[in-house]
This record gives sequence, C-alpha cells and structure tokens, in this order.
Amino acid sequence: MTDQPLVHPVLFAGAGPGAAEHLTLGVLHALAAAEVVIHDRLVGAEVLALIPAGARRIDVGKEGFGPSAAQPAINARIVAEAQAGRRVVRLKGGDPGIFGRLDEEIAALEAAGLAFRILPGLTAASVAAASLGQSLTSRGRNRGLRILTGHDMAGFAEQDWRGLARPGEVAAIYMAKAAARFLQGRLMMHGADPATPVTLVENVSRREERLHATTLAGLPTAAGLCQGPAVILLGLAPRAAVLALPQLNEARA
Ligand code: SAH
Repeated sequence: MTDQPLVHPVLFAGAGPGAAEHLTLGVLHALAAAEVVIHDRLVGAEVLALIPAGARRIDVGKEGFGPSAAQPAINARIVAEAQAGRRVVRLKGGDPGIFGRLDEEIAALEAAGLAFRILPGLTAASVAAASLGQSLTSRGRNRGLRILTGHDMAGFAEQDWRGLARPGEVAAIYMAKAAARFLQGRLMMHGADPATPVTLVENVSRREERLHATTLAGLPTAAGLCQGPAVILLGLAPRAAVLALPQLNEARA
C-alpha cells in the first residue's frame, strides 16, 4: 500500500485563438474533467467560460506571473499541481506547440518524472488565413509555409531573408508588431518587392477581429494601427469577396 496520490498526466491543451468555435472537442472534454486549469493571457474569454465552476483557475498571464522571468515559477506550479494528484490542464492560446514555450514546461515535467499529453489547437495563422478567404499554401505559388517569430531571446529575430524576399513566398509572422519596420527593412534589403501583399490580422477569432490589408511598403504603418495581438501574413492579401463583407472592410495603410 502507498499513500502517494494517483498522478494524472498533465494535458497541454491548445485553446485556439479566441472563439469557442475554434476549440477542439478533445480540449473541451479535457476542460470538463479538469480540476486545475493553468492558463495564459491570450486564451479567449469564450474558452475561459467553458472551464467548469468547480475547477480552480490559475492565470499565469497576470502580474507576478509576468512573461519571461516567471517561466520557472510557472513550471514549478504545473509540477506541484500534478504532484498533488490533481487533473491539470495547461491551457495555451492557439496551438501549444507554436511559440508557446511548450518544451520548457515539458522539460520540467520530465525532470520531475511526470507524464503529459499534448492536445493540439488551431494556431492563429490558420484562423487568420481563413478570415482572408485564402489558402496558406497554393500549388504554383508557394512550396512551403513559414511560421516565424518577429522576436527571439536576442531581440528582433533574424531569418532567411533572401528566401522570404522571393515572389510568392508566404510566411505567418507572430509577435511581430514591434518588429514591423525591422522586417520591412530586412526584406527590402534582400530584394523584396515593396508591393508584396501583406495582411495583418488583429484579434483573430474575437469580436474585435480586424484585417489590415497593405503591402510591404505599408507594413510599419499598418502595424502601428494594431492594438490587440496580431499575426502578419506576408505574401497574402484578402480575397475581394472577403473585403466586401462590411465587418472586415478595414483600414488600409
Ligand atoms: N500558441 C499561439 C501563439 C503564441 S505567441 C498560437 O498558436 O497561435 C503570441 C503571438 O501569437 C501574438 O504575438 C500574435 O502574433 C499571435 N496571436 C495569438 N493569438 C492571436 C489572436 N487571437 N489574434 C492575433 N494574433 C494572435
């Protein structure tokens, strides 16, 4: 006999970018069974509302659990809740495996000998492209899709600029509002056409969702108009039929 609590695998779950309609059934079921939900700031209100009243909710996006410095504290909290035998869902915006520091949290669980499962979610770029009425890949246009960050630990992130500057390339750039001028400069320096279509999609999957359709030349101005989180879709313009919808007929920079 042992009085060790039964330890459940921690479920790393993707909340999608905002609306409940972008949540998978797998994550919905995980939330229904959760005893503790540890979530980030970017998780949408509609998804938070699906957490059962009996489950404890821990917002690690708040002050005191601020972005980078607190990662070890977040890791420690996940480990402690799991070791206490609770059913833990670690809920992250979008897909947990895309710019979600998933590896760091998994490493903490592994170091503690704890099990986990990953429940994927819709990433912001997928839903943003859908709002443009566009496919992220297209035969004859782009052979690949790049998912990039505007920032890394060293500051603005360096990329394969020459490759990105080629006509037809498509990239979804996360965390890039502040890097807009840097991105523009690097791409133009490597020969990108200033008329390359660029669309910023702000508050994807939320009521305040806005498309800012512009070009590489207008990227910094358009980024300056975004107040909420935004994903930059380089190489994609909204289809005309989408622009005809009144709620998406947004400012062009
Ligand atoms: N794991 C998330 C990304 C987290 S990184 C995902 O898969 O979507 C945070 C960045 O993601 C933000 O800076 C922004 O670029 C993007 N992002 C996340 N949610 C968003 C939303 N609802 N609308 C627009 N951009 C979003």
